[in-house]
Amino acid sequence: SSIPVLVTGGAGYIGSHAVLALRDAGWPVSVIDDLSTGSRYLLPDDVPFYEGNVADRALVERIFAEQDIGAIMHFAGSIVVPESVEKPLDYYRNNTVASHSLISTAVDAGICHVVFSSTAAVYGEPERVPVDEAVAKLPINPYGASKLMTERMLEDSAAAYPLNFAALRYFNVSGADPAGRSGQVGKGSTHLIKVAVEAAVGKRDHVDVFGTDYQTPDGSCVRDYIHVSDLVDAHLKALERLIERPEENLVLNLGYGRGLSVLEVLDALDKVLGQPIRREMKGRRAGDPPLLISSNKALLETLDWNARYADIETILTHALDWERKLQSRNWA
Ligand code: UDP
Repeated sequence: SSIPVLVTGGAGYIGSHAVLALRDAGWPVSVIDDLSTGSRYLLPDDVPFYEGNVADRALVERIFAEQDIGAIMHFAGSIVVPESVEKPLDYYRNNTVASHSLISTAVDAGICHVVFSSTAAVYGEPERVPVDEAVAKLPINPYGASKLMTERMLEDSAAAYPLNFAALRYFNVSGADPAGRSGQVGKGSTHLIKVAVEAAVGKRDHVDVFGTDYQTPDGSCVRDYIHVSDLVDAHLKALERLIERPEENLVLNLGYGRGLSVLEVLDALDKVLGQPIRREMKGRRAGDPPLLISSNKALLETLDWNARYADIETILTHALDWERKLQSRNWA
């Protein structure tokens, strides 16, 4: 089955990869994005594009009608943790309130399936690692709270209306389209792999290592870095499952179930480059949990999904290829 899908935030990093994957797989796909952080050039020209916000009810109703939309992949939102602490009300507006409007418009239009972009930040500082989906959800910042509230709206809506949903909790999304069509755009990104490949192409002169005295094997923080194409593949499989089983919802972590330290990531990049990137050892960054690794048992058991790009050198190579492309086109 392939029903027309609306991708919100489709001009962003993850959303644009979802658009490409849906299009590659033959799904009719349209995009709504307000271009507050997204970029048109991440999208193919033949994808119907609507510039605007998901909270614009009239616009969303028009897209549903014009494109005969049957399912939504909802990526639009704000995602920077420290910014969410500074501007919590912006986060509740952009993530929670806007999602309320979108879900409500979808329910009124009889749209049945929603795949939602959630986050490991719903767990806060998890009581156990690897983190499974039953771990207590106690977000420690407005970003995580704003996403968790949307999960709850979906859960309650699915119980009350003819709608089912998948809440997909991302670990550390990284890498870029293997075919070089999309990737992460700079604009002051603070994510390790983005920062590291920027240093690799000379946009920065070093990489800071935030914290070397954690209770981890090498003292730096450990994360579960997942390639954006594998992450997006799980979205397509989740959508197929929602269509096949309209009575069921899905709540799944998206990660590989393996951890890499900051120093291991930088070592791997040095290897890919064949030369070392300058590092500066710094103090701990506020709010960083030492160890965050996903259990992906539920993902593997529920969806016919397997990791294709888990190798860190593959992730770094794709991120680096994309960074070079950005640089050569003067895009960011
Ligand atoms: N990190 C680092 N230097 C950087 C950016 C990040 O050492 O320039 C560390 C950060 O402190 C954390 C890990 O890399 O331990 C992953 O951070 P990132 O911001 O990529 O993702 P997060 O896990 O915070 O969502």
